[in-house]
Amino acid sequence: VLFVRAVVINERGEAVCSNAVAAPVAAAGEVIVRPTYMLVSTPDRELVRSRGAAVAAAGQVLGHQFVGVVEEASQGGAYGAKLLGKRVVGSITVACGVCDLCKGGLSHHCRVRTVVGLRGRSGCFAEKLAIPAANLLAVPEGVEDARAVFAYAISSAAHVSAAFRVEGKPYISVLGDGLMGLLSVQVMARLNARVRLLGKHEKKLLMCERWGIKHRLVGEVGRRLDQDVIVDCTGSATGLVDALGMVRPRGKVVLKRGPVDVGASAKESAGWLGGLVEREVELIGSRCGSLSEGLALLKDRLVQVEGLVARTVGLEDVPGVLMRERGEGGEVAVRT
Ligand SMILES: [Zn+2]
Repeated sequence: VLFVRAVVINERGEAVCSNAVAAPVAAAGEVIVRPTYMLVSTPDRELVRSRGAAVAAAGQVLGHQFVGVVEEASQGGAYGAKLLGKRVVGSITVACGVCDLCKGGLSHHCRVRTVVGLRGRSGCFAEKLAIPAANLLAVPEGVEDARAVFAYAISSAAHVSAAFRVEGKPYISVLGDGLMGLLSVQVMARLNARVRLLGKHEKKLLMCERWGIKHRLVGEVGRRLDQDVIVDCTGSATGLVDALGMVRPRGKVVLKRGPVDVGASAKESAGWLGGLVEREVELIGSRCGSLSEGLALLKDRLVQVEGLVARTVGLEDVPGVLMRERGEGGEVAVRT
């Protein structure tokens, strides 16, 4: 058996960097990618910090946002062969292709899907990654690794615009100045100038200033029930409370991330849901989008990612990064 270096979950549910992880073997339709540049992201942290989920995922390699080079394509069919030696990015959901949802065109919601690095499938914080060729797209020339690594996140941000129609000039507020907020607000601002970011960190708001995008500190904004759409990228229960305090009656709230720190009592939750009913607010969940759309936005420089990465680490530093609180400094990138 060949071994590779990878960040893997051990039997105690801890993330560790090991030099003795069995090298992935390509199944039918899969190719072997050598990841070169990756991002540590919130779902990676959530998996490691949720003890139960981490123990259940023992043996799994972490990580799902990557740029890499296809090194071996003997199992990858004609398309895999075309990708051999190329720089690629990947979508992370691997669908079965035969369940009712797959057959109905909803393969992102496949009933038995696995997800690279997150659900039943090893990820990219490793020297080698096995992934279906069909999940990969070649990175266009001129899109360097440090930008291409954001393709997946940008495709998810772009998917927000599929959740509602932008008609006329609606007032849209994007809540949260983490990665998803900073990408979503750029995508939305291209569709409509009345878009603003509401955040908590001056440094992040300064990035919006540079991009020519309106921004405010969330604490300084009145709860006036006057926004047509709120895109909540905070992943916190208070984000949803803020959203419901700002959205107009019959308006829409798009949740980009499930509230992960719900500390609210059932009584409090019932209060928000009462407001949702009273004002007939539409609550919409939004997940992944089309990777080709994300790559196109990067290629045409329609979304800026310069300055989003605060520091770059090696694989051996990833377990520590996963366990630390996310700072306001920015994203952590990983180089093999
Ligand atoms: Zn399926």
